[in-house]
Amino acid sequence: MQNNILVINCGSSSLKYSLMNPVNGQLILSGLAECLLTEEAVITIKHQEKKISTSLIAPFDHEVAIQFLVDYLTQHQLKETVSAIGHRVVHGGEKYSQPTLIDEKVKSSIEQLSKLAPLHNPANLQGIQAAEKAFAQTPQVAIFDTAFHQTMPKRSYLYGLPYHFYQDHGIRKYGFHGTSHYFVCKEAATILNKPMEQCNIISAHLGNGCSVTAVKQGKSVDTSLGLTPLEGVMMGTRSGDIDAGVIFHLVDQLGYSLEDVNTILNKKSGLLGVSQLSNDCRTIEEAASKGNEQAKLALDIFSYRIAKSIASFSCNFTSLDGLIFTGGIGENSLLIRSLILSQLTLLNFHEDKLANETMRFGKQGNIAKIDSTPCWVIPTNEEWVIAEQTYQQLNQEQ
Ligand code: ADP
Repeated sequence: MQNNILVINCGSSSLKYSLMNPVNGQLILSGLAECLLTEEAVITIKHQEKKISTSLIAPFDHEVAIQFLVDYLTQHQLKETVSAIGHRVVHGGEKYSQPTLIDEKVKSSIEQLSKLAPLHNPANLQGIQAAEKAFAQTPQVAIFDTAFHQTMPKRSYLYGLPYHFYQDHGIRKYGFHGTSHYFVCKEAATILNKPMEQCNIISAHLGNGCSVTAVKQGKSVDTSLGLTPLEGVMMGTRSGDIDAGVIFHLVDQLGYSLEDVNTILNKKSGLLGVSQLSNDCRTIEEAASKGNEQAKLALDIFSYRIAKSIASFSCNFTSLDGLIFTGGIGENSLLIRSLILSQLTLLNFHEDKLANETMRFGKQGNIAKIDSTPCWVIPTNEEWVIAEQTYQQLNQEQ
C-alpha cells in the first residue's frame, strides 16, 4: 500500500500525528509529541500494539519531533508508503471552504489568518514547515477546522455589531470542530440510510472544547463557537457565552488587565472555574457523586447550557432526524447525556437508560427510546476525515 496519509495536528507545544489508510480508515501508527520547546519534550509512538516513549533532543521543537518520526517510519519501511501529508489547520477564514494543496500563497494566508487564531494558526504553520523539510517531495494538504461551517447563512454568522467590522476586519462567527461535526453527521447519514444532503441533524461535540452545530440538509447552518473558540456553550476551561459587559466590569471596576481577562475567560472558567476542582469531567462527576456542591453546580450549568444551545438551534428545522453526541464527554459521559436529554423532552428526546449505559468507550448507537427522536453516540474520527480529504484532494490535482 503506497497511498497512506500522514495526518498532522500541531499545537503550540504538541504535535499529534497518525499514519492512516485513507480508504478504510485503518490506523497504521499514531502518537503524540508533548512538552515541545521545553527540556521535557517527549514523543510517543503507538505501532503494532506497542507504545514507545522517547525524550527529544535540543532544540526540542516541532522539527525535531517530525525528524524522529521520519527516522522511525524509515526504519520500519513506512516512509515510502506516505503519499501525502494532511494538516489540520484551525482557521481558514472565509477564504478556505475546501481542502487545499499547500503552496507559498496558502502558507502566507494561514499566517495572515493568525490574527483570528493567534494560539493555533502559527503552530499549524510550524507543523507544515517542519513536515515540508522532512518530506520535501511529498504533497501537503491543509484541512481547515472552519471549512465545514462556511455554508452558514449571514443571519447565523453575523454579529449585531456595526457592519464595517465585518466588512473591513472579517469579524464574524466562523465556528470550529468542522471536521468532527462533518464526520459524525456522515456516520449518522449512514445509520439513517440516506444521503447526508437529506439529513437534518444537531451535533454536539463535547470534549475539552465544546460546540453544537445545526446541520440542515447536510450543511452547517449554525454553530456555537464564534470568531474564536470562546463563544457558545460552557467548556472545560472556557466560559462560553457571557454578557460582554462582564469584561468591562472586570477591567473598569475590578482592575484586571485585558490579558488577565483573556486568561480568565479561556483558561480559568468553564467546568474548572465553577467546580474549583478540575476541567476534567470525570473528576467533577466523581466529586459530585460524593456530594461536592460546586461539582454538582458545574455539571448543572454545563448540561443546561448545552441543552439550551441544542433547543435554540431547533428553530432551523421543521423536522429533525436526530441529535449526535461526540467528543470525550459526548462519547463517554452517560450522566451529562442524561442531564441534557432530560431538558429536551419538548423536542421529543427521551433517554433509553440501558442504551445510554451501553454506548461508551467507543461504542456507537442510539441512546433514545424507540418513540423518541433518535440520539446517537458516535465516536468522532477527525484524523480519518483529514486523511480522506487529503487523498481526495490529491486525486483531484492529478
Ligand atoms: P479534546 O477536546 O482535548 O480532544 P476530548 O475529546 O478527549 O478532549 O475530551 C476530554 C473530556 O472528556 C474530558 O473532560 C474528560 O474528562 C472527558 N471524558 C473522557 N472519558 C470520560 C468518561 N468516561 N466519563 C466522563 N467524561 C469523560
